[in-house]
Amino acid sequence: MTEPDWGAMAQDWLARLARCSEPGPGVTRLPFTPEHRAALEVLTDMMQQAGLRVSLDAAGTLIGRLDGPRGAPALLMGSHQDSVREGGAYDGIMGVVLPLLALMKLREGGVRLPFAIEVLAFADEEGVRFPTALMGPRALAGSFDMAALELRDRDGVTLRAAMEGFGLAPGEIPRLKRDPAQVMGWIETHLEQGPVLQQAGTSLGIVTAICGIERHSITLTGQAAHGGTVPMHLRRDALAGAAELTLAAEDLARATPDLLATVGALQLRPGVVNAVPGEAVMTLEIRSPSDRVREAAGTELTQRAREIAQHRNLGLDMSRSYAQPATPCAPEIVTLLSQAVTEDGQGAMHLPSGATHDASAMADLCPVGMLFTDCRDGISHHPDEYVSPRSMSDAIEALARVIRHYDEAPLHSAD
Ligand SMILES: [Zn+2]
Repeated sequence: MTEPDWGAMAQDWLARLARCSEPGPGVTRLPFTPEHRAALEVLTDMMQQAGLRVSLDAAGTLIGRLDGPRGAPALLMGSHQDSVREGGAYDGIMGVVLPLLALMKLREGGVRLPFAIEVLAFADEEGVRFPTALMGPRALAGSFDMAALELRDRDGVTLRAAMEGFGLAPGEIPRLKRDPAQVMGWIETHLEQGPVLQQAGTSLGIVTAICGIERHSITLTGQAAHGGTVPMHLRRDALAGAAELTLAAEDLARATPDLLATVGALQLRPGVVNAVPGEAVMTLEIRSPSDRVREAAGTELTQRAREIAQHRNLGLDMSRSYAQPATPCAPEIVTLLSQAVTEDGQGAMHLPSGATHDASAMADLCPVGMLFTDCRDGISHHPDEYVSPRSMSDAIEALARVIRHYDEAPLHSAD
């Protein structure tokens, strides 16, 4: 009997799921909507084909479970079902489909596992509809803030009402908390959303850590003035200060391993062609898999901003508005994934994840690991997002090996 073409099957399944979308370019599938409902129906069918028992929990997470021996703990795998607006057909949902196919592959090979497996499709990772996200993994980890149920979408619908309208009982969320002793780990498969693997010419990469993030809000205040009448040496140009700080951030990040710095928003006042900018309001975001590196960069760039403001005679208001620590992946899962990708574990590509994932929240419950696939030209959150059947087939093969060998790995339990 010839083996099915797993990569082609993945492509086929993802095309079916991509049709569960609002009309328009790409995929738009927001949580607790008719599109979400349609995707759950398709996923239920797929989970059943993979031999899993399917249920929907109170946080809207679709759970496909393959029971193990009585009392055995479970290995959890999966990702999120939702997309951004006009996003792609792979982000999130591919991480649900590939472990299902890996389980089918193992079943065809007659493999019986000494533990349970659950494949999870979380409702909301992107946080596009409501100003919160990650409720599915947070519910399992016991870290979900019930106050978030009162947050509203742009139509004024609360998260609680949206979930109730979807047939869920959000009041039950605190009861979803899992016993860490019964969870062996979380393995999430995701497209890289960047160009590193493609550049390296490899289909798979192992994530070492999910970057921590901090954000700063910065206002530089100078003096708005006529662009024709005020000589250069008498100006207090807020934009020139903002530009200097932007370049300082770029220089520092280029010179520091594992550091990313981005000025992503800039507003000028008065913002007209013939006026010296009197005010520049900007953001600075810093990411690193190392909290020490990130925090040192935040301190250094705050100091640079003070110096720039002083020598340009500008007012400065700078504050850190957000900070989230890095999530290291469990070394034993990194090793297991590396061995699954390359047989001997040597030469597997390791990289940090610059983006946040469900794994960030699952880390509060259990050891986590992530497998990245390459994606065409690093494009994601866009209709052109693409992962080749070949890369998905490689990922299915690697996941099947990880599942087979997981029980041989040293298990983290409640210790
Ligand atoms: Zn994602």
